[in-house]
Amino acid sequence: MTRILHRSIGVALPHAASAQGVYITDTMGRRYLDGSGGAAVTSVGHAHPEVLAAMRSQIDNLCYAHTSFFTTDAAEELAEKLVDLAPEGLDYVYLVSGGSEAVEAALKMARQYFVEINQPQRRHIIARRQSYHGNTIGALATGGNAMRRQQFQPILPETHHVSPCYAYRDKGIDETPEAYAARLADELEAKILELGPDEVMAFVAEPVVGATLGAVASEADYFKRVRAICDKYGVLLILDEVMCGMGRTGTVFACEQDGVTPDIVTIAKGLGGGYQPIGAVMLSASIYASFANGSGLFQHGHTYLGHPVAAAAANKVVEIIARPETLANVNAMGARLQSGLEAALGAFPYVGDIRGRGLFRGIEIVADRESKVPFDPARKLHAKIKRQAMARGLVSYPMGGTIDGINGDHILLAPPYIIEASEIDLIIERIAESIDAAIA
Ligand code: PMP
Repeated sequence: MTRILHRSIGVALPHAASAQGVYITDTMGRRYLDGSGGAAVTSVGHAHPEVLAAMRSQIDNLCYAHTSFFTTDAAEELAEKLVDLAPEGLDYVYLVSGGSEAVEAALKMARQYFVEINQPQRRHIIARRQSYHGNTIGALATGGNAMRRQQFQPILPETHHVSPCYAYRDKGIDETPEAYAARLADELEAKILELGPDEVMAFVAEPVVGATLGAVASEADYFKRVRAICDKYGVLLILDEVMCGMGRTGTVFACEQDGVTPDIVTIAKGLGGGYQPIGAVMLSASIYASFANGSGLFQHGHTYLGHPVAAAAANKVVEIIARPETLANVNAMGARLQSGLEAALGAFPYVGDIRGRGLFRGIEIVADRESKVPFDPARKLHAKIKRQAMARGLVSYPMGGTIDGINGDHILLAPPYIIEASEIDLIIERIAESIDAAIA
């Protein structure tokens, strides 16, 4: 019996008791390999001694000071570090307590920017279908995932959506990646023109789509084209790196690999690494200047923003992520995961696609490989795979259901960056068995 309103009501969950490195142990003594880092959260592994030491030292000195009255060394150092690591042009940091909060703050930042520069008519948000940007009202409205929005639709503010860059399903057989990217950029431009170019505020997208599609990176020059369209119409580009950022894809920021710098970027999950709830919004100098030279106030705030213990933990997490050996391991182990999954699952008739970057990998399951027809959603294959994997001591992140008319099941794998080759091989073995058992 539980008094907690869990996400899935009535599902008995094991009680996690301790964790170390890439393993979580429950109160029955069972060990689970954390193949998805929870939801791509555990970046530097569980119980990293350097992070624990940094948190202890902060706890001994200061646990809380409200940011209206004080700043802290921990928060200032974290901001400094993030700016050093970010693509040039992201010069300021706003700290929050998680991903949805980061997206909310980013949207309000964009809106206030246009008010400050005397373009108050700019209000439209364009995002992409089949996307997820968080569960709070503004972030949920931004996301284009029909299934998640469904019952909340009447209370969501109006937003607009265009197609995601999802080559596996949408690129024509004879279409080059360049032509596909150009087609999607045209669609975005047409949407901006339809809404009125002077009234569009921001375009929001995830560089590598995590939760809703399963590690889908974009084609060739898609984001460069998107950046050019946003510049042409004075629309802000907000990239949501809550899941794919902080080293997950093999570079500190995912957008580095797409060759673009957004006006605003959101980060969270891997930033706290599971140690503390924390997120951040990074913004351009011109957005900052509009506030500084205008009202002198960002009209937003949360009580726990910039929490010193969270900042101290994130400070150390970021330091570890930025070490060359960490990102080298993400890339080497990511390549091993990709090729190992291809070798183990390549012949499975129901594995349609294996993809991703770094230690952010997705497997799309289909009922028929040729037609790419998904499994009947009534079979709830993703839920079965999750259960089968847990029974085999593997934490994975399968998702599915009806997404804008596409019934798809996919599995996201996102283990900690410290993972070793033998553990990657174990993930591959266990996920292959789990898929087999779920479909049988
Ligand atoms: N944006 C993206 C891209 C995400 O994947 C998520 C969480 N899955 C969020 C925002 C929301 O983050 P949080 O759950 O920390 O509020």
